[in-house]
Amino acid sequence: METVVSGIRSTGKLHLGNYYGALSNFVKMQNEYNCFFFIADLHSLTTHPTPQDLQATVRNVVVEYLAAGIDPEKSTIYVQSDVPEVAELYLYMNMNAYMGELERSTSFKDKVRSNPDNVNAGLLTYPVLMACDILIHHGTKVPVGKDQEQHLEMTRTFANRFNHLYNTAYFQEAFAFSYSEKLVKVPGLSGQGKMGKSNGEADCIYLSDSPEVIRKKIMRAVSDAGPTAPNQTKPEAVQNLFDLMKVVSTADTLTHFDDLYNSCAIRYGDFKKQLAEDMVLATEPVRSRILEIEKDDAYIQKVLKMGAEKAQASAQKTIKEVREIMGLKRLY
Ligand code: AMP
Repeated sequence: METVVSGIRSTGKLHLGNYYGALSNFVKMQNEYNCFFFIADLHSLTTHPTPQDLQATVRNVVVEYLAAGIDPEKSTIYVQSDVPEVAELYLYMNMNAYMGELERSTSFKDKVRSNPDNVNAGLLTYPVLMACDILIHHGTKVPVGKDQEQHLEMTRTFANRFNHLYNTAYFQEAFAFSYSEKLVKVPGLSGQGKMGKSNGEADCIYLSDSPEVIRKKIMRAVSDAGPTAPNQTKPEAVQNLFDLMKVVSTADTLTHFDDLYNSCAIRYGDFKKQLAEDMVLATEPVRSRILEIEKDDAYIQKVLKMGAEKAQASAQKTIKEVREIMGLKRLY
């Protein structure tokens, strides 16, 4: 059976981009594959969270994984730092990751631009750690959003380079996976780009947002003054709202508002109201489970202990084999 590995950084609450780009695929895949889903707390250290914040966000993400429908009996759910072998593999793989290729990564360049005061080495080698998360369990399928395609390409490069260097076929190639034909990109509410916390709180709809908060955020979402000619191309901010509608509403609803836009008869107030109601409905089952699970400390602990043990067993086997391949053998 093929192995699936994926994770989400523990930087806070999960948003609709995380849900439709990653989590919803996790939930489907667990019935067909050997799945490892982790909370990437080591990755989140690049932004220097306080210990208290780190703990709280890790817990949050676990709760939201479970609420979204990941079943700890079917999948291995674990916290990245509970498996120190990942960090060991990261050290080894850093030896054959080159500065040039790391500096050229789009996400690195974005981070440098948005956070020029915190360009640390962890950020530069972020794709190496991501590769190790996958390679440590021999993952071949990785359910991620479109923004991660380049990281997957780098994961294949590092795996192939290791194989070549040590004349082995030890690591397999991993590919991005999505049930939809194209990888999903969920746009944000601020008028440009994908939904992401770095664009500010108002850009994101979180899985834990109450119906009132969802309605308020959608009504305030950036749009424009409305179409002035029939069938005109939508500006990015308006196209983004239609793309969000595509994700949460029925095809009929989408066509209805598309026709209104094309005939210049759309009223954004009605359009947004419909979008907000469909979004409230789409997120309601997850939101109510979040409220239930977040109270259950004993359950959360049980899930994480079980997950850590399974993930450690898999990772320890890989590290032992990698050390042998590399010649890291004890001489005594
Ligand atoms: P991050 O929040 O950047 O750690 O991403 C965690 C997962 O969510 C990755 O698989 C991303 O590809 C996915 N993801 C994050 N934002 C979006 C988005 N706006 N659209 C689609 N997928 C996303």
